[in-house]
Amino acid sequence: MISTDILTKNHIDKISEILSKYGLALDKNLILTPNPGTWARDKGVQNIKIWDIAFSTTEHPSERKLIIFSEIMPYNSVRSILSRIDFSIGTRRCKKLDSPESFITHLTLHEIAHLVKKMTQEEEEKADDWAAKEMGI
Ligand SMILES: [Zn+2]
Repeated sequence: MISTDILTKNHIDKISEILSKYGLALDKNLILTPNPGTWARDKGVQNIKIWDIAFSTTEHPSERKLIIFSEIMPYNSVRSILSRIDFSIGTRRCKKLDSPESFITHLTLHEIAHLVKKMTQEEEEKADDWAAKEMGI
């Protein structure tokens, strides 16, 4: 059960393992920043809310795929994302994501669904479902 903020760095090996499975790499495709919303604003990435703790984008003109994660995933933001996932995939499956490692795994796969599986930002439920299935949930 997640009961506190998640330090993303504590799960970096797991993130790296997932990225490489989908042809992405830690040093090329992941950015950790104190504030993804500010990062997006500075880089001119549209439709990212200032409180977002994770998003993905394709850099232009390099076409580099990027996942942007907050260095710290605040407890309240995590709970609010879990509520969305609960709505997307149902309570029974969502309960299995209520540990820091599982949450980060699902979040990484969710962004991969957007970047690699080409699910749009409007297909949140589909991305949540795909990510859970990749975890065997
Ligand atoms: Zn999404």
